[in-house]
Amino acid sequence: MVVVMHEGATEEQIQHVIERLVGMGFGVHRSTGVRHTVLGAVGARLDFDTRDIELLEGVREVVRISAPYKLASRSFRPEGTVVEVGRGVQVGGREVIMMAGPCSVENPEQIQAIAKLVREHGAKVLRGGAFKPRTSPYSFQGLGPDGLKMMREAAEANSLLVVSEIVDHTQVQMMQELVDIFQVGARNMQNYVLLKELGKTKKPILLKRGLSATIEEWLLSAEYLMQGGNYNVILCERGIRTFETYTRNTLDLAAIPVVKKLSHLPVVVDPSQGTGRRDKVPPMARAAVAAGADGLLIEVHNEPEKALSDGAQSLYPEQFARLMQQLRIIAPAVERTIG
Ligand code: PEP
Ligand code: MN
Repeated sequence: MVVVMHEGATEEQIQHVIERLVGMGFGVHRSTGVRHTVLGAVGARLDFDTRDIELLEGVREVVRISAPYKLASRSFRPEGTVVEVGRGVQVGGREVIMMAGPCSVENPEQIQAIAKLVREHGAKVLRGGAFKPRTSPYSFQGLGPDGLKMMREAAEANSLLVVSEIVDHTQVQMMQELVDIFQVGARNMQNYVLLKELGKTKKPILLKRGLSATIEEWLLSAEYLMQGGNYNVILCERGIRTFETYTRNTLDLAAIPVVKKLSHLPVVVDPSQGTGRRDKVPPMARAAVAAGADGLLIEVHNEPEKALSDGAQSLYPEQFARLMQQLRIIAPAVERTIG
């Protein structure tokens, strides 16, 4: 942290700031310029609040230099993290991993049909919600554990892995047996009780970005998981809330290169929640791969008109097939492969 004192700050004020910094555990380097005294505070503390210094008499400005997270930062693992999901599938390696399926698991026939078709076109992971955190309490809430079992069976029958959303810390034990990746939804990105509980497991976690979360807040949520000992964290950009209303959310594709610089964790993109409209999903999926995404999470339905949730943003089977063909052309241009 760098503390710039006001022009004319008294020696007494400067000394007081130095004492406070030392008391917080920092080493202090003082440099006295023609007008301003600048204090460089160095040390490994992550939990300080710059406002505590900003409010001291004589302080003009405080600039935080180091990130407030450690385990999630790129410097912790400069080479990058590859998350092993199972069946030899790696997220964060050369291959862009396709995770596809319905928004919600609805019945055995539906999930079996969709599992078969996404597998045929190159998906490695079957997505589908059994616990749906819906904006309205009157909307379909998901089939719960029964839905997870249907999904597991469909995945096994088609050599796929399973990603599904967990909405409460009491579900960890039960879901552990049935999913390969825990999905933490946008609405739960800051559910710290849930994050701490998941941090104690070893299973990969897909951490969605909160609806109005900054990249720093998102990485701090990843830090919660890692602090518990689980380093198998995959970040998922799914759009944020902005003033724009045409699309359901504003898909922040710039977050991919930004996160790649700040963190070593793999980044997956969800253009389905990100745009909310099926015609906008393929262009954004193509752009995400071109921008360096390590995977995509895409909603696909065999009969989108009949879907119990998010039908309008679910791709038709033939759209998914066409998208995969296009991604097979785009991926090599950015030194990647896709199934
Ligand atoms: C979903 O993937 O269907 C979902 C509800 O996602 P999010 O948490 O990003 O809204
Ligand atoms: Mn959905």
